[in-house]
Amino acid sequence: MGYRVKNRIKTLLTENSNTNKLILLDVDDTILKPSQIYIYRKLPTDSVEVKLAPAEYAHEDVTLETKQYYDYRDFLDPLKIKRSIEDAQPIVSNLQIMDELLSKGYQLGILTARSSEDMVYKGLRDWLMYKSKTGELVPIGDHLKRENVYAVNDTRRVRGLKGETDYEKKVEVVKELLGVYDQILFIDDDEKNIKEMRKLKTILPRELKDKLFIKHALY
Ligand SMILES: [Mg+2]
Repeated sequence: MGYRVKNRIKTLLTENSNTNKLILLDVDDTILKPSQIYIYRKLPTDSVEVKLAPAEYAHEDVTLETKQYYDYRDFLDPLKIKRSIEDAQPIVSNLQIMDELLSKGYQLGILTARSSEDMVYKGLRDWLMYKSKTGELVPIGDHLKRENVYAVNDTRRVRGLKGETDYEKKVEVVKELLGVYDQILFIDDDEKNIKEMRKLKTILPRELKDKLFIKHALY
């Protein structure tokens, strides 16, 4: 992380009256390591189907042309979706950033390439904890609101989006949210999403670009 970015995030953390500010988190390999859920790849060069964990998938070069060779069936299976969150391992380093911003009054948003938005919301609502101001680990409760959960491959959600790739869809949602919030801190582990979000920042008008902060998820 560059010095300037570091300092800007430090500034975010020390500001007050943050009620119209949003921390927008990806799910897989950002707030949690999902359990037993995979993406399957069968490129023309693959002799057999290859099973990829979401962290491995994040390193794949998935483009408009190659997307057809990936199968996301696990992410449509209610039982697998449920278990993938229920049995997930929290990624504490990123959740600590969430804790800190929640204590400063930030809103919490979720932006994932998953489908089944309702299931993602319910799963996280049951699983996600945060550290209160007194240092106690407590259920996320009303900090996570249904309307702030965006799963860009959800059958209903996707109808309102023009983008074809996951990163294009994520950018569309962020663009929309920039019209609503005074500030957004976007955190994601996938380099493609980070790159696309940085690209968005270069084309946005100044008043919008200054609201958007992009951070690569920690490990
Ligand atoms: Mg991810």
